[in-house]
Amino acid sequence: MEELARKEYDKNYYQNNKEKRSKQSRDYYLKNKEKILKCCEEYRLKNRDKINEYFRNHYQKYKEKRAEYIKKYYQKNKKDILKKQNEYHKTNIEKITAHNRNHTLSTNEKTFHGINKREYTGFCEICNKKNVKLEYHHWNDENFLEGIWVCQRCHWFVEGIDSGCDEKSLKKYLGLKQKIRREQNNGKPKKQD
Ligand SMILES: [Zn+2]
Repeated sequence: MEELARKEYDKNYYQNNKEKRSKQSRDYYLKNKEKILKCCEEYRLKNRDKINEYFRNHYQKYKEKRAEYIKKYYQKNKKDILKKQNEYHKTNIEKITAHNRNHTLSTNEKTFHGINKREYTGFCEICNKKNVKLEYHHWNDENFLEGIWVCQRCHWFVEGIDSGCDEKSLKKYLGLKQKIRREQNNGKPKKQD
């Protein structure tokens, strides 16, 4: 009984003096910061292998337990978590959009994250159109700063050029178009029967 009472007393003391205690240890830390950091660093260097092994073992040992815990926590708090995520998304939508615009890029093959594009222009760099959705056209996966901001129409245009459409093909296309139009206007059958 006495033991229990003492435990209870300790617990209450700890709770009631929580702030005082954390202030004390914070003050001590600030006053002795250099000494403490130096001591920690020395300990770390001296016991590097031991520490690494400890964390490796610890990680492996609790891997499944941790995954299970996270899963349960998520299931239990799903509603709250989703709500918070939604709120965050809503209040930071402009920041998120700007961030994605500058640092991610989706192509037909894959999505690149954490890249750097040239600064967003706000207008198409080929036709100067404003107030249209702009896309980023790049041609070097090693350096995404090599790219331009273009509207969708100009994007098709430059993709065409980059995929090998040269002046000769362009002339041929325009010539063909003219020829077919002429044929149509000369009363040649419009539809094939
Ligand atoms: Zn354009």
